[in-house]
Amino acid sequence: MAEVRISFLGTGAGNCIHRAHTAIVLDCPDGTRLLLDAGSGNSVLRHGAQLGMHAEDFEHVLLSHRHGDHMGGLPHIQGRRTQMAPSASPLLVHSLEESLAGLQDLFRAVSITHQVDQDSVTTTDGNRVVAWDPVEVGQWITLGENTRASCFLVNHIGGAAGWRVETGGITVVFSGDTRYSESLIEASQGADLLIHEALSTEDDKDGASRRGHCTAAEAAQAASLAGAGQLVITHIDTPFHSNTQPLADEARAHYDGPISVADDLFITTVSRP
Ligand SMILES: [Zn+2]
Ligand SMILES: [Zn+2]
Repeated sequence: MAEVRISFLGTGAGNCIHRAHTAIVLDCPDGTRLLLDAGSGNSVLRHGAQLGMHAEDFEHVLLSHRHGDHMGGLPHIQGRRTQMAPSASPLLVHSLEESLAGLQDLFRAVSITHQVDQDSVTTTDGNRVVAWDPVEVGQWITLGENTRASCFLVNHIGGAAGWRVETGGITVVFSGDTRYSESLIEASQGADLLIHEALSTEDDKDGASRRGHCTAAEAAQAASLAGAGQLVITHIDTPFHSNTQPLADEARAHYDGPISVADDLFITTVSRP
């Protein structure tokens, strides 16, 4: 039986005061481990360690966009990875050019000794510790023996993307940050699992949209129109932290499949016979 294990290391919206920022680990049936976004600060290191996942265990990062709550943790992941496994292959960051440019600026701003250029991040002793993999929309990249991924544009900021991952006959789609997006529905067709952000309920639909985000109803509509096998809602804002039920209840009215709202350290699996 093929199984993908999905571990949520961070599930909070940018301004959330209770949760770590967005970071999700996919453990694929062929042994490939993917980090979808990298949270901020040391949250991937802290929450990863609690689940037995350490910086040196990450090789591939699929980055959705250049906001700090999604890419801010990468310099710390790199630092710890280089410390623990100095001769490891470079951390490979896959994303659209525009997002990689933002990430390169971040590395330049925070690295005192590292050389940051168009291709990679290199330490003073010539060790390549990060390599950039610029991808095109819709381009499939091979990440493991039976694992591939491609990204699609979403409606958030310039260069913002979601990711479709196919592995061992199982498809997982991650929305990244987005307003309601037709391109996401198209790219999510037949997904076994849709991980979709939702900042609020319909009570604050305008506020969510102004900030570039969805409501739970919109996330569920996307899951329904995509024919997704199950929906996990994430990117939770402060008002819903301690009671996520209103998000789940609102989603329920628009989607018939299983619905979960992720908390930090939530783990779920998707399997196929
Ligand atoms: Zn965000
Ligand atoms: Zn964002």
